[in-house]
Amino acid sequence: MIRLTDTLRKRKTEFIPVEKGKVKMYTCGPTVYNTVHIGNARPAVVFDSLRRYFEYKGYRVTYVMNFTDIDDKIINRMKDEGWDYDLITTTFIREYLRDMQSLGVKPANYHPRTSHFVPETIDFIEKLVDKGFAYAVEGEIFYNVKKFPGYGELSHRKLEDMLSGARIEVDRRKKNPGDFTLWKPAKADEPYWNSPWGKGRPGWHIECSVMSTTLLGSPFDIHAGGNDLIFPHHENEKAQSESCLGGKFANYWLHNGMLQMNGSKMAKSVGNIISIRDAVSRYGKDAVRMFLFSTQFRSPIDYSEDRFEEWRKGAGRVNNALLRVEEIFDTVPPFQQRKTEWLEEKRKLFEKYLDDDFNTPRVLSLIFDIVKEMNATADKPFLKQAYWLIKGEWADVLGLFTDVPVKTKTTDTSGIDKIMELIIHSRETFRKNKMYEQADKIRDGLNEAGIKLLDTPDGTKWQQN
Ligand SMILES: [Zn+2]
Repeated sequence: MIRLTDTLRKRKTEFIPVEKGKVKMYTCGPTVYNTVHIGNARPAVVFDSLRRYFEYKGYRVTYVMNFTDIDDKIINRMKDEGWDYDLITTTFIREYLRDMQSLGVKPANYHPRTSHFVPETIDFIEKLVDKGFAYAVEGEIFYNVKKFPGYGELSHRKLEDMLSGARIEVDRRKKNPGDFTLWKPAKADEPYWNSPWGKGRPGWHIECSVMSTTLLGSPFDIHAGGNDLIFPHHENEKAQSESCLGGKFANYWLHNGMLQMNGSKMAKSVGNIISIRDAVSRYGKDAVRMFLFSTQFRSPIDYSEDRFEEWRKGAGRVNNALLRVEEIFDTVPPFQQRKTEWLEEKRKLFEKYLDDDFNTPRVLSLIFDIVKEMNATADKPFLKQAYWLIKGEWADVLGLFTDVPVKTKTTDTSGIDKIMELIIHSRETFRKNKMYEQADKIRDGLNEAGIKLLDTPDGTKWQQN
């Protein structure tokens, strides 16, 4: 039984799919006007992995992650830099997919773009107008939050508090300060789509309602995203969808905590961002994913270079243990015979932890427990089984340890430097005592091992061929 903390119910809730054996899942994707940072990678990585876990459990998953390609930020970039609108969006969709590939995130079944769903969006808004949930003022369509009794229940806010707390600068055309735009008229120099209300574009919130329900039906199972989207984005999605469809929109709402740096959210506007590209090239894909899994997804997670460095070493430990097994067996056939009870217990724990609100940090420590045993034993059946448990079963769920193994040559040469210092010192001692035969033995032995000794005026140096 999988239990997940649902933001609406505010507690861990047993997952029961709409349709037996199937999971329909939607995660809010990026606005494509620039490259993304590792804060944006968290929902992508965590919910990618949750989707794989459902697959591991035997579900057939339909996973949707959208691209917001109609947005004021894109229009601003177009105006500020004189870029072609379509060029901005297609460029940053490509960049995003490239970043996700480098992070080992599987493509979703659908990556819909807002601009490809404009006719469906217009239908959706027309229904809201017909049903009395939305109203038009000067070519702009607003959603009337007072018409939906459940408004505020997802973010656990009271509508009355929200209205009384609203700032005065509110748009006078709105019936209530909390009303939000469904359709916005285009200014002369802005891209537009034709609609019954004139030239314009969809507002932000409506797109996710349209794309999710068009592709997944309603209700669908899981709606996911960062917890910075709960209000107003998801509250508004839920309100407009349920008033349009007359029934439930999504059965479970999952929200990840923010990635923080020195206590504040990593965001372009704060200027404390690390790009995915930098992080992957500096620490490797496995380290970035392990870092993101090192805290349960609902909690905030703190970025620091030290923590990344730790995970780089941690990922290296696991990969080296797996590589050692590959070197012992050349090819490692799946192990069919008697199972080691100790490993079977670990397998049960893996599921127990992930069933319990997708508790990835406990799974990481489970992996390190096994690696410790692998490094301490020469027991071949055990090594084979441990290898297949991590590499054959868990690696695919977590998107870890899946790269073709490359023997990691340690870049840290302080160890070998020390050893060479000792050897050179011994050779010098032999020579000082006129024990040339022993001294030459060392030189020749090193030569055979591909290490050349060079006697220079500054002392003996060595080089590796
Ligand atoms: Zn969304």
